[in-house]
Amino acid sequence: MSIIRQDLSTKDWTIFALERSKRPSDFKKVKENKAVKEYERNCPFCKGNEHMTPEDILTVKDGKQWLVRVVPNKFPALEPKGDCRYKINRHIIGPYLSIDGVGNHEVIIESPDHDDNLCNMELYQVERVMQVYRKRFIELSTNKDYQLIVIFRNHGRRAGTSLEHPHSQLVATPFVPGFIRGKLYESERYYDDFGKCVYCEMMAYEIKARKRVIFENKDFIAFAPYASVVPYNILILPKEHQACFAQVSENNVKYLASILRTVLRKLYYLLCDPDYNYIIDSTPIDQAGNRHYHWHLEILPRLSTRAGFEIGSGININTILPEKCAKFLRENNV
Ligand SMILES: [Zn+2]
Ligand SMILES: [Zn+2]
Repeated sequence: MSIIRQDLSTKDWTIFALERSKRPSDFKKVKENKAVKEYERNCPFCKGNEHMTPEDILTVKDGKQWLVRVVPNKFPALEPKGDCRYKINRHIIGPYLSIDGVGNHEVIIESPDHDDNLCNMELYQVERVMQVYRKRFIELSTNKDYQLIVIFRNHGRRAGTSLEHPHSQLVATPFVPGFIRGKLYESERYYDDFGKCVYCEMMAYEIKARKRVIFENKDFIAFAPYASVVPYNILILPKEHQACFAQVSENNVKYLASILRTVLRKLYYLLCDPDYNYIIDSTPIDQAGNRHYHWHLEILPRLSTRAGFEIGSGININTILPEKCAKFLRENNV
């Protein structure tokens, strides 16, 4: 089991998951410039290699063929405790605090085919993936050991992925990190001052100003944030106020799939398939109905590298204004 240690001076948590150093990597072929094939013999996520992963948690099938699988991560950052009588222990050693590494770490395998790409899949397949996100989020929200659920996708080597087969991940943690606490605190302060959700306010302004909007549909909007942290930073928000991702309806999910696919296609075709991370940033589970936080999907392309100043100061240096990025993505259809 991994262990979670707290930094005494910053209150930031670090998960020590030593087994993860043994993860396989299939990115050698990228270096060798080999074409990506539909099936890779050594890929644990390929159709036909199901024996290489732990047993399915959830499977979406069409007849006998699976279309989306959710499996436990074989090299988890956090693991479920298994025994319901077990308590998540806190340990104090000298001045330091640590917690048992209890949680969930799952892989959502988005396609049976190795050479698939989320943005080039048919819309109904992207919808299936989003429906699976929703189902797993709602299911894990009922576990009282967990406080935060993060769904994320790492695309490309610079974004930290070790396997190129299309997949996303989900991690449920037994604590709320300071980074999220900070965002919650600021949105709550805004609510205290103005009686409104800060994200709803930003969205209303962006819809009116139309300088940074990239795309919108009935239920969602995609825009480049005013103070974008990296070039082509994109936020996708539900137009209706929803604090927690668990509040998204089955019908909403269709529009989420559609806007996400459109935006990812624009990145793929207009920026030559950049590496990126996307993250679903949602309120902690016990604050699901609050009025001040608003869940969102954030896309962070890896077109630049954070260097000493950014890491040391927490101040981002961006080289392109979001208005320019949004205009380019908005005005070019793919
Ligand atoms: Zn594969
Ligand atoms: Zn809101």
